[in-house]
Amino acid sequence: MARYTEAVCRLCRREGQKLFLKGDRCYTDKCAYASRPYPPGLHGQGRSKTSEYGQQLREKQKAKRYYGVLESQFRGYFEIADKKPGRTGENLLSLLETRLDNVVYRLGFAMSRAEARQLVNHGHFTVNGRKVDIPSFLVKPGMVISVKEKSRNSEKIKANTEANSFRQPPGWLEYDQINLIAKVSAVPTREDIDLPVEEHLIVELYSK
Ligand code: SF4
Repeated sequence: MARYTEAVCRLCRREGQKLFLKGDRCYTDKCAYASRPYPPGLHGQGRSKTSEYGQQLREKQKAKRYYGVLESQFRGYFEIADKKPGRTGENLLSLLETRLDNVVYRLGFAMSRAEARQLVNHGHFTVNGRKVDIPSFLVKPGMVISVKEKSRNSEKIKANTEANSFRQPPGWLEYDQINLIAKVSAVPTREDIDLPVEEHLIVELYSK
């Protein structure tokens, strides 16, 4: 599958905030956004006014980059969100939040969503006892996510779990840290999602 491979720190600088795309580096003083908090490029420090369209575009890019999905896939999530009852923008974020790679990241098995995607691709996780190696798989209330028996001794997963033990999983995931099992207890609501994005601007952009 196609994937964005440009230097990811440029994306944070472009969006004007930390998107936590590089794992542990994001929490250190090596973070590129911390040292250069302005857009990349020759005129990065000179840009100021943004049009209404520009703002809508930036919010969409921010959400897309945060979850690491490409345009066509993001658009697909929007269309599903638009057909659901409730607010489209919140439905959109809720859908993105329930991707299996995001769940793996939220539970602390990976240092970034990119790493979570790789771990899922390598078949380290099960959903309801069956191996699922599709990062875009959407979890639903009642489903149980677990590290596969054979992967419990993976050095990477052990190291990540330990490094992330301070992180609190979101309220919609019931996590048993000893047994590395989590149950989806609810559909994530906007309050559960810490993404600083104005999702109504994404809806306005796609509704044109
Ligand atoms: Fe973004 Fe992380 Fe790079 Fe900092 S280190 S700019 S948070 S990806």
